[in-house]
Order: sequence, then structure tokens, then C-alpha cells
Amino acid sequence: MISGYSSQAMAEIQKLPDNIANQIAAGEVVQRPASIVKELLENAIDSGADRIELRLKAGGIALVSVLDNGSGIDPDELALAFERHATSKLRSADDLFNLSTKGFRGEALASIAAVADVHMVSKREGVATAFQIKFKGGKSEGIEETAFSKGTSVSVNHLFYSIPARKNFLKSESVELKHCLDEFQRVALLHEEVHFQCHHNDAVVYDLPRSTRRQRIVHLFGTKYAERLVPIEEKTERFVVSGFILKPEHARKTRGEQFFFVNKRFVRSPYLHRAVLEAFEGLLLSGYHPGYFIEIEIDKSAIDVNIHPTKTEIKIDDEYHVFSVLRAAIRHSIGRYQINAPIDFDLNPSLTPSYKQSISEAKFPKISVSSSFNPFQNEAVKTTDFSEVYIETEAEQIRLTPQIDHQEALLQLDGIVPIQWDLKFIVVPQGEKLLVVDQYRAHHRILYESLLKKMTVDQAGSQQLLFPEVVSLDAHEVELLNEIGTTLIDLGFDYELQEREVVLKGVPEFFPVNEASKVFKHFIEETQLAEEKVALSTADLVAQVLAKHSAIKKGVSLNQEAMTHLLEELARCKEPYISPSNKRIFVSIPVGDIIQKLH
Ligand code: ADP
Ligand code: MG
Repeated sequence: MISGYSSQAMAEIQKLPDNIANQIAAGEVVQRPASIVKELLENAIDSGADRIELRLKAGGIALVSVLDNGSGIDPDELALAFERHATSKLRSADDLFNLSTKGFRGEALASIAAVADVHMVSKREGVATAFQIKFKGGKSEGIEETAFSKGTSVSVNHLFYSIPARKNFLKSESVELKHCLDEFQRVALLHEEVHFQCHHNDAVVYDLPRSTRRQRIVHLFGTKYAERLVPIEEKTERFVVSGFILKPEHARKTRGEQFFFVNKRFVRSPYLHRAVLEAFEGLLLSGYHPGYFIEIEIDKSAIDVNIHPTKTEIKIDDEYHVFSVLRAAIRHSIGRYQINAPIDFDLNPSLTPSYKQSISEAKFPKISVSSSFNPFQNEAVKTTDFSEVYIETEAEQIRLTPQIDHQEALLQLDGIVPIQWDLKFIVVPQGEKLLVVDQYRAHHRILYESLLKKMTVDQAGSQQLLFPEVVSLDAHEVELLNEIGTTLIDLGFDYELQEREVVLKGVPEFFPVNEASKVFKHFIEETQLAEEKVALSTADLVAQVLAKHSAIKKGVSLNQEAMTHLLEELARCKEPYISPSNKRIFVSIPVGDIIQKLH
């Protein structure tokens, strides 16, 4: 014996007994009662059932039981189903890329039986009697005949009874219940063709009849959802995106309902989540989370689900394409359904091959920006005439969503004289309220939306500089300019890049000509800073920074016509309450507040 080695270390290599190997595997598969809920529900779905009942006791710790009316298991295979890597769903390595079932690893039942008591009863179609099998302490108690109508019932009791270390890790019943219900929701959401029931401690938690997807969401989350849901739909040759988003005004402080399903599997994907966030960019107050139920169907060969045993992570080939189509589909839906007078937020048509502008019924507010107005000419100008800023072309009728009373209020300007206050705010009495509008933020919003529109639908106007101006950039700025170049050209910039120097020949018509190179440099610097902070699309970023630069600042005096124009344009904005940098644009002070203060 080599000195220093213990005799234990020298022991023979032995194959682990099956029940211990199963316990180790169970560590991955069965983390808590919710894992059992997921596996059993998925087996029930795979069995072709159209009725599935989930019963829980004590948050699933005491009991998780699933009853289905599916295919049942052949008596000869009852014991086999509990062996590790025994599955009826995968026959060869090729099948792995062609899966249409939820399970495929054949691990679940074996793992569950290793860490809890299991009782399965099943009746196979065409077999005269039903059979049952029981596992206690990881060991089978044999198969017996029994009476049972159709399908399969699996009851799992005493989770982790023999593994106190694992049992101690479980949280309170209510927390475990919440996790169980989360899993239930994910499966129920995807299978509206199945009648589901869920009971906890003998009380019915959900009873979900067969329905449409929309009704299923409403049954699960409450009748209020019926009007909050906006459908999304987009097809390309390689995949289909469908589902619903919650209107931006129903975003929540807590991460509420956020569901991605890829090929009928719930998945977590921070990457696709970002696509949703980008689509909602500028529409949510900071700290609010959007809600969504999004399903993506992709050619099976283009995804790999086998990354993790609990299978909520997947790998999609061509993820970027899915990302941009998803983002465009959501923007498009927000534009069509959220407000009746939307700006088209579909920014980069090249990313969205199948998006058809013709199907949009959106009405665009017609705003064009006067080339003669220059907010940079003189920061201290005493009066800015806003009619100079906007040339109204063929003003379209704007229909406002009734529940948004601020927007309506903003429009009631007949005979009302707005007042500028502190060279920062515009104050307008509106019936029982006093509206105080931040002039800079309002203009920032207006310009931002009109710029986005320019990039998408309009041919942007450009003005040539009399003398081309030279702007020096550092290496990072050159890189950035290469990245955003096409967007800038779409906006009306005309320039040549010679190594580190930009020769600026033309700028968009709203851009300050007098200080073109200075503002351009500024703009590039800020875009770079913003890009490091947030993951925005180029078009969003450029529109935000450019709008910020061009918006009238505080300290600028506005005459009445200018104020009225500003308010009217704001009311036409898609999102009149939040500035592109996520700040409130106005407050409305009820007369009651003032009366109270006077007491
Ligand atoms: P997997 O689902 O990955 O195949 P499981 O361990 O979950 O592995 O199940 C093993 C096998 O038992 C399945 O392949 C299936 O043939 C059978 N089975 C399990 N549950 C059911 C059920 N509710 N109805 C019909 N067959 C089932
Ligand atoms: Mg399974």
C-alpha cells in the first residue's frame, strides 16, 4: 500500500447501486414539489389526455397527484417506466432533434421514486384490467391488478422523507404551493385543448374548461385580462411568433406574467426577454415590467432543448433573427391596438422581412419639422414661435382611447389660454384639474416620435451645408459611426468618413446648421454613452439622443401659440405621459388638493 493513502481510497471501484444513482440524479430532477408537478403534468400531456387533474396537499410536500385520461401504460411496462433512462419517447440519437413530446430523458419517474413514495395506477386502452405499482423507500412493492377506469394516476407522497437534508431545504407550504401553481400555469397555458383542474387541500384552485388561448389566460389570471391582452402574430418562413402582450399601462412593479414558450415548452430566455423590453422601450415607467404570453414555433431541427435536465433552457440557431422579428411583432401590435392613433414603431424594416406595412390601419399624426427653426441658435431667445417649429400638414383626426383621460384633457384647449411658468412649465386649467407640463420633456417626446416615424415611413429631408465641416472622432466613435451609419443616412445626414475625420456635408432638416459640427460631435459622444448603458436598437438610440439635443430647453420663453402647438402635438403622441428618458411629462393637480391646502 502506498503510504499516506487511506484504505478507503484504495477500495475497489464499484458501480453505484441503482437506488443511490437514482437519488443522485433526483438531485437534479426533483428539487421541490413543483418539479414533480411539472414532470407528472408533462407525462399526462404526452399521454394524449384531454382531462388532467392535479391534487396537492400541504404545498405539494405531503402529496402531489396527477390523474389523466390518456393512453395508459402497458402492464408489462409499468416497472420499466420507473427505471432510469427508460422512455417510450426516444429511440435513437436522431430523435433528439425531432422531439414533439415533453419528456424524453426517461429520468423523471425513476428520480421521483428514489426520493418519495409513489403509487401509480394505469389502465392501457385495450387491456381488460388496470394495474398498480407502489414504491416505498426507493423499492418496488410489485405490481398488482386493481380497478381503474382509463388513463393513469400517479400519487407522490412524503417527498424527501428519507433525506432530511433535502427536506430541510424546502420552504414554507405557501412558497412551495406558489412554485407548484407556477408549473401548473405554464402547462395549462399551453394546452387550452385540455380540461384542467387543480386542487389544494381539497379546495378547487382552478377549473379550466377547454377553451381558446385567450380564454385560458383569462380563466387563469382573472376577467380583467380580457381587455388587457393585445394579440401578436408574425410568420416567417422559419418560425411563427404568436400570443399576447399586456398593454403597456398594465405593466407591473413586480415581474408579473412573463411567459415564453418555444415549441410547446416553457423556456426562460433572457435574450428574448430583452427583445420584449426593447419593443416596450419608452412606453414603461422605470421599474415597471411588461407582461407577455408569447409562443414561438420553430423548425424542430433549429433548436436544442437538451441543455439542462429540467429543460427550461434551449438553444435556438439563428437567435438574432427570432429576436428582431419578435421585437418588431410586438411594436407593431402596440402600434395597432394600444392607442388608436399610433406612430409606427417598426424601426428597421430590413430586420423584419415579412412585416407588411399595408396591413397596418394605423393613422399617423402628420408632423413635419420646419427647417428654419433652430433651437440652438440662441439658448436665451426670449420668444420662440412654435408655429415656426411645426408646419402642420393635413392634420389627421385623432381618436383617443377613452380610458386615458390625460390625453383627452390635453386636447381640450378651446378658448383656454396656457400660461408659461418659470420658463419651464406650461400650466393649463382643465375642468377640475390643473395640468402642469414640463416643456422640455414634452418636446423631447414629440421630436422622438416624429424622428422614429421619419426613419420608418417618411423620406427624411436633408439640408446641405454651405461649407462642409470636419469633425474629429476617436477610434470608438468611428466604430459607432460605422454601426449607426445607415440610420443616420436615413435621417438625412450626409457625410464622408476619412480615417478619423468625418466630413459633414448635409444634416437633417431640423438639425442646427450653424453649429452642425459641434452638435454632431456632441451627438456621437452621447450616443456612445447611452449605448453602453442600455441595449436599445440603433434607431431608438439615435432618435432619443437627437430629440434630446433638439428639444427646447427650460429657460426658453414660449408664446401662446407655441404653447398651444406643443400641447396639441403632445396629445397626438403615442405616449404623452412619459418622456423618452422615462420621466413624467406632466402632473395634473386636482382642484380638491388646492382646496385642501387653503384650509
Ligand atoms: P420520459 O417522460 O422522459 O419518457 P418518465 O420517467 O417521465 O420519462 O416516464 C417514463 C415512461 O413512462 C414514459 O416514456 C411513458 O412511456 C410512461 N409514462 C409515464 N407517465 C405516463 C402517463 N401519465 N401516461 C402514459 N404513460 C406514461
Ligand atoms: Mg416525463
